[in-house]
Parts: sequence; structure tokens; C-alpha cells
Amino acid sequence: MLMAALHDKFGRAISDLRISITDRCNYKCVYCRTANEGALYGDLPFADYLRMARVLVGMGIRKIRLTGGEPLLRKGVGEFVKELARLRTSNGDGTALDIALTTNGHLLADLAQPLKDSGLTRVTVSMDAVDPDRFARITRVPTGFDNVLAGIRAARRAGLGPVKVNCVLLRGFNEDQIIPFGMFAREEDVVVRFIEFMPLEEDRMWSPATVVTMDEVLARKAEYRSLTEIPRASSETARRYRFDDGIGEIGIIAPVSHPFCGHCSRIRITSDGKIRTCLFSVWDHDLHAQMRRGASDEELAEFIRGVVEKKEERHHIGEPDFVPASRTMVHIGG
Ligand code: SAM
Repeated sequence: MLMAALHDKFGRAISDLRISITDRCNYKCVYCRTANEGALYGDLPFADYLRMARVLVGMGIRKIRLTGGEPLLRKGVGEFVKELARLRTSNGDGTALDIALTTNGHLLADLAQPLKDSGLTRVTVSMDAVDPDRFARITRVPTGFDNVLAGIRAARRAGLGPVKVNCVLLRGFNEDQIIPFGMFAREEDVVVRFIEFMPLEEDRMWSPATVVTMDEVLARKAEYRSLTEIPRASSETARRYRFDDGIGEIGIIAPVSHPFCGHCSRIRITSDGKIRTCLFSVWDHDLHAQMRRGASDEELAEFIRGVVEKKEERHHIGEPDFVPASRTMVHIGG
């Protein structure tokens, strides 16, 4: 089904879809979740996500990232990736989709190769400390560090590279990990990306003072080795840097201090089948309800087009009129 490409009212082309396949998570990272289990929105059969993906790919989506919650908790993710890998982008030349995964890495060691064989192209592992004790303090999981390291190494061996390792910096918890992460990027041959903490957490502890900004990361890194910025496409969220000797790459994703909303090409589907047009949306749009009422693919596409039309111009983090998002990160899918 070929349809006109998706654009919002600000002229941004929407080519990037994130699907959360569960809002369950086996970690309770301090900047994301409370220490309790909390209520869940639940998830859908893979066939439902596949239908949504198929319609959206027909409308111009070229990249799909599976996320959660923790996506690897979901049995059958490999089969789902295989189905996604059969879809072709709508540009008419038979190009395959770019299929990526964001995971905490806890279960990745055994799954990296099967996922690669299923058609996964890339993996991003979230890891917020290279020191095991600090890692345990942040994730509230005493034994996860070795699993995550093994997962990163297995992903590299499987050819899911360049493996990206995302580190959310939270003042008072891990800003002293900036330099060790630089060494880690070089030793493990991964791209480490530092992410500014956003107000999407369950414990509502965000304030501007908790954010370790991009400028601070660059200053710390320069104490270790000098960096050169790598040219990037305007749609890339991360600013990229290489160390002076050419070994190792780091990135900085700075949605708070250097927002990139003007180039946002993303929409998200939550695990319960709602479309979100911005991480900071104060409402979502029930695509799955349209499916339950028996909508055809054309009707789903029309619904999606209407939703995307209303995509927010930008987030308002730190501004007096900021209204918190209607869901926290674990229930959106980062
Ligand atoms: N469980 C998977 C993982 O750990 O990568 C996927 C879901 S997790 C919600 C996706 C990403 O969001 C992780 O990299 C996590 O560190 C990041 N994240 C969660 N809460 C955040 C916040 N308040 N600000 C910035 N990033 C956040």
C-alpha cells in the first residue's frame, strides 16, 4: 500500500517510528522509575504492532526502533523482527527497513546473534556507569553489570554495530563516570552517548540543577583528551565527537540545553497501541481502538495522518508554561 509521505504541519517529514512492545522492565533506574513495581498499561499481540508498522511503513517510515519497558522481556521478539524485516520502505526501490533495538542489555548476551539473524540492524544498550557498584545503585539491580557488559560484547560479535551505549547523566549519581566512559568507548569499540536527564521520571525529582549539560560533558572530556566534532546530518539527535588520535567516538544528546525539536522525525507507539507525537505530549491517540472497531488500513492511515498533523512544535522543558507529559518514560518507550 503506497501512500503520500507523512508530514506534520511544520513541514517535518516523519520517517522514524518507535514501538514499545512492553512497559514491563526488570530494572528500576533511579532517574526513570520508582522503587515499586507500579501499574502497567499492558501490551498487545505482535500481530497488532505488525499491522500498525505495515501501515506506517506504507506512509514513509524508514526506521523502526523497538523499545519498552524492556523489550527483551517479551517472548517472540525475534519472530517479530523477522516479520518487520520482510517489510519494504515505500520509496519503491525495495529498500529494507532499518530495524533497531534499545535495551538495558540484561538479556542481550544470548539474544544478540539470533536477533541479528532475524534481521535486526542495530542495537543501543543503556548503561549509566562503568563502575559495577555505581551501576547497581542506579539500576537498583545488584547483579546486572556483568550481564550488560556481556550483552554489549555479544552485540559487537554479532555485527550489530556500531554498538551504541547510552548513558543518562544525573547529578550526584554518575557525572564522575564521564571520563571512565570515554576510556570505555575506546577499549570496547562502542559509541558512548551521554543523554541529558529529562523530566519524564516517575519520582518527579527533575529540576534544572539535576541536569548535567552538554557543555559540562565537553569540558570534562577535554580534561581527558581533546575532541574533534564529526559532521552530522541535521536530523541526527546526537552531536558526535572523535578523540584526537582517531580512536573512540562519543556523542551527546542534549534535548534540554540544545533542543532539536525543529528536526524531529519521530512518532511513537506505546505498548498499549497509542500514538504519541512527542515525548512530552499531554495526550495520546488510540490507534489500537481504531483497529478494534474494525478500521481498514486506509482508515488507519487517515487516522494517523490526522494525528501527525497535530504533532507538537517543540517541548517546553524548563519554561514557566511546561506541563508534564501524560506518561513517564517507561510507559512511553524511549
Ligand atoms: N529498557 C530499555 C533500555 O533501558 O534501554 C528501553 C527503554 S528505556 C525507557 C529507553 C531509554 O530512555 C534508556 O536509554 C533510558 O536511559 C532513557 N531514559 C529513561 N528515563 C529518562 C529520562 N528521564 N531522561 C532521559 N533519558 C531517560
